[in-house]
Amino acid sequence: MAAAAILRVRHCGAAIFCRRAPPLCPACGRPLRGAGLRAAPVLLPCPFQHGHRQPRAFLLRPSAGSFLGGYDGNSDLHVGISSTRGVVYNYNEEGIHKDETGWEQCISVPLVQPDMLGLLQQWDHLLEEFSTGEEWLPHRYEEHDHNCYTYALAFINSVLMAQGKQQMSKSEFTEKFVIPQTKNASKYIALHQELTTKDFYIVPLPDQEEQC
Ligand SMILES: [Zn+2]
Repeated sequence: MAAAAILRVRHCGAAIFCRRAPPLCPACGRPLRGAGLRAAPVLLPCPFQHGHRQPRAFLLRPSAGSFLGGYDGNSDLHVGISSTRGVVYNYNEEGIHKDETGWEQCISVPLVQPDMLGLLQQWDHLLEEFSTGEEWLPHRYEEHDHNCYTYALAFINSVLMAQGKQQMSKSEFTEKFVIPQTKNASKYIALHQELTTKDFYIVPLPDQEEQC
C-alpha cells in the first residue's frame, strides 16, 4: 500500500494533499522547508487494512475490484468474518467460502477485545460450527434478505447471545461500527482519485486553522 500513500502539508491557509512533499508550496510558491512544524508533511492514515492480517474481525470490501482500484462509491460491497489466522469466512449464492486471499484491502471492525480470553480461544471453533448451519446452504441465499451481511451479523449475534449480551440489528451495527469508518474511507478514496490525475490537491482550511 506504500505506493498509494497520501501526505498532507499545511501552508498559507490551505491543506495540500500530495504523494511527495514539494520544495515549494503549490498554493503560494514560497519554500516549504523552514516553514515550521505545521508545514511538515504528515502521512494520512490509510483507512484500509489487510484483512488476512486482521484476526477475529468483521471485514468489508467491494464485491469486485478494490477500494483504491476504481471503486465508484456505489457498487456492491461484500462482508465476511475472519478467523484467528485471518481466513475470511463469507457467504454468497454459492454458500460459505473460507478465503485465504482476496481480502487484502478492507474496512475492518475488530470483534474481540484482547481481554476476552474465553472468546479468543473459542473463536475459530464457533465460526466453523456456525458456518456449517443449513441456513448458509447455497439455495437459501437471497440477494436482499439472506446474504453476506445476514450471515456475518447472525454470527456476531450468536457470539453476543452466548456471552449474555444484547443482540444488534443490522442498522445498529452499521451505524455504530461501519458508517464512521466508511465516511473516513470515502474521503480517502476521493483524495486518492484526485491524486491519480494530478500532483496536488489543495483545500482551503477553515479560518480557525489558518495560523501560518
Ligand atoms: Zn503556501
